[in-house]
Amino acid sequence: MSEVRAAPKKEKSAPQKALEKLGLVRDIDLALHLPLRYEDETRLTRLTDARDGEVVQVEGLVTRSDIVLRPRRQLQVTLDDGSDTVLLRFFSFYPNHQKTLAVGQRVRARGELRGGFLGREIVHPSFKGVGEDTPLATTLTPVYPTSATLPQAYLRKAVASGLARADLGEILPAELVPKGLPPLREALNFLHHPPPRTLLAALEDHSHPAWQRLKFEELLAQQLSQLQAQRERARLRAPALPARREGLHERLLAVLPFALTGAQRRVVEEIAQDIAREQPMHRLLQGDVGSGKTVVAALAAAIAIDAGWTTEILAEQHFRKLVGWLEPLGVRVAWLTGSLKGKARREAMERVASGEAQLVVGTHAVIQEQVEFAKLGLALIDEQHRFGVAQRLELRRKLQGQALEPHLLMMSATPIPRTLAMSYYADLDVSTIDELPPGRSPIVTKVFADGKRDTVIEKIRTEVAQGRQVYWVCPLIEESEALDLRNATETHQQLCEALPGTMVGLLHGRMSVAEKAAVMSLFASGEMKLLVATTVIEVGVDVPNASLMVIEHAERFGLSQLHQLRGRVGRGAVASVCVLLYTGPLSDTGKARLKAMAETTDGFEIARRDLEIRGPGEFMGARQSGAPLLRFADLAEDVEWLQIARRIAPTLLDRHPDVARAHIARWLGTKAEYLKA
Ligand code: ADP
Ligand code: MG
Repeated sequence: MSEVRAAPKKEKSAPQKALEKLGLVRDIDLALHLPLRYEDETRLTRLTDARDGEVVQVEGLVTRSDIVLRPRRQLQVTLDDGSDTVLLRFFSFYPNHQKTLAVGQRVRARGELRGGFLGREIVHPSFKGVGEDTPLATTLTPVYPTSATLPQAYLRKAVASGLARADLGEILPAELVPKGLPPLREALNFLHHPPPRTLLAALEDHSHPAWQRLKFEELLAQQLSQLQAQRERARLRAPALPARREGLHERLLAVLPFALTGAQRRVVEEIAQDIAREQPMHRLLQGDVGSGKTVVAALAAAIAIDAGWTTEILAEQHFRKLVGWLEPLGVRVAWLTGSLKGKARREAMERVASGEAQLVVGTHAVIQEQVEFAKLGLALIDEQHRFGVAQRLELRRKLQGQALEPHLLMMSATPIPRTLAMSYYADLDVSTIDELPPGRSPIVTKVFADGKRDTVIEKIRTEVAQGRQVYWVCPLIEESEALDLRNATETHQQLCEALPGTMVGLLHGRMSVAEKAAVMSLFASGEMKLLVATTVIEVGVDVPNASLMVIEHAERFGLSQLHQLRGRVGRGAVASVCVLLYTGPLSDTGKARLKAMAETTDGFEIARRDLEIRGPGEFMGARQSGAPLLRFADLAEDVEWLQIARRIAPTLLDRHPDVARAHIARWLGTKAEYLKA
């Protein structure tokens, strides 16, 4: 192995690192970093003309400057602008501040004017020392979104020079730019430095043509890259996996204890048609929790296996059920989880590499640990929450040795509203299971303050006495896995004591796969009545006898996560209850989430509310990459621009491929890769 030594690099300053962290690397990135709001430093207000509550910039001479110790240590400065005086108060200050604010100095100060106990005052104004003829700002001053280690002044300078340096020439042919929109350079200059007396409302609500130009450009870039990806994929080849008559999938159907719903039959058909072709499938299978996606996945896998190709399932200990269906039919399965070590792991990998394993179930380890696939024909990716685009790209890279691409089926329980999916993801086909299997009883959801814990424990006792089973979910504590664990352990202890004679189990992420499996099988067999778990149970647990789900600190969970968890009950004919315990005070979004949970159990409605609460950018972005992809456009508001972009994109790609490429690069930079995955 050869060692490569990097040339000694100059250490980056903290603000430089902070810039990078915000993704502000290229000039264009800086130019596209838009202000949150603006401050008006273009004019001075005479104190006699100023009203209380108004944000003003005033200028005058300091007539008094004292440190006062009561009621709290503070610097008090009186400023006289010739028309009146105002008191400037500072609770934190440095010696150089005092120097600037010394008696006799001319000072320009800006802040909110208030009528105070000591007369009119401004608390913590921004200020600077000026001379008689220091000019006023000629444009509004931008205030940028920033981070703790990046001072606003530094960022402002960086953006200004990025904006000046960036290549902002028009890329798009003029005839393709909708009328009424300013050129990009003009739009950006305006948005960073609006002239005095600009109506800020049109900037704040993004209705100004300069904003519209950015929305249009961004959506066009998104559509172009989707279309480009679609065309690239169309050139790739995948193995054709036609369904055989009386094949494995039919044998599976025959042994299932239930008949498929109409919706399941329809989506299986859609998938079967896709994978029978030599073009790689790129399909999202969406359906509410409990709608029966697993069996659809199993049927797809059966078809692929029958055709002589390996199927891979990327998901955490998921799909035990699926394996439980296929293994008895003679399918050879390999599990590849992170906890698999040593000889067992080597053997599993060999079985995958030799093609002996027909179904490979694994975690990210499958990707990370350099597994070679003999013939990968179908990849089932459980997309919810944990499997990001980065992993998908990695899977792609790993397959470069294989001449044929695998078909991809992504599964999601938080449906994207269909119209949105269709127009936004030009490059994704969507199958939707919009019907639940028959015989489900609706889940009743109740929201309680944490003080009601005893009532809830009483309810558990009743359920257990009737032979039912109960889940108790403890929240993930973001900052600390250790705390997380302690919390779950304590709750477990507490419930054991409260329910003597009842078998209470504990399940958390630190346990090995074998330990988890042991606990799960006790619960599945019905011997264990109450299962205390961290969010690990989110992933595919299926115990129809469970009738009560308690979620502690429900306010800490996202809406789709709550919906997922709740879906673990109500799987049989028993009437089920979900109790959401919260600890106040609740934020507005927290309230909205719990309200949505109490009001509906429909996954599509939940997705719609989630969209409303979080905004589409975040909604889609987080799903796809962990980072919002749309910064300017808003999918709910800018449907019209989306449609225009959809219309223009094919023309642009056909007639001006270079322009299309340049536009994508300008807007998406390295993110373009992500959109393709
Ligand atoms: P999800 O879509 O959340 O993954 P599952 O695949 O886990 O849902 O299915 C939920 C439950 O419904 C499982 O117990 C499964 O066996 C059962 N199920 C699936 N399809 C049907 C059906 N057509 N009829 C009856 N039960 C079904
Ligand atoms: Mg599932």
